[in-house]
Amino acid sequence: MFNVIRDCNEPEELLNAKESNGPIPTNGELYESIKMITNNHCYLCESQIKSRAIEHVQAHKRNPVLKYEWNNLLLACTYCNELKTI
Ligand SMILES: [Zn+2]
Repeated sequence: MFNVIRDCNEPEELLNAKESNGPIPTNGELYESIKMITNNHCYLCESQIKSRAIEHVQAHKRNPVLKYEWNNLLLACTYCNELKTI
């Protein structure tokens, strides 16, 4: 796993999603910000990402605060994300 430097502010889109308790948006400012800070690579295997897969580093099921936590969101490839859920 590479070191991620979040040199941009929490995207407004994420704050809006948190306020409305809605889904994590994957097609706008949030995705573009995470894509930029990860250079469009999976945070686990470091392969190039081909889909808009924003994933939670720490599961948020037992701790809902983590769902909208800016520092908890990165990109993961389909393979790694499936391994995470096993
Ligand atoms: Zn991966």
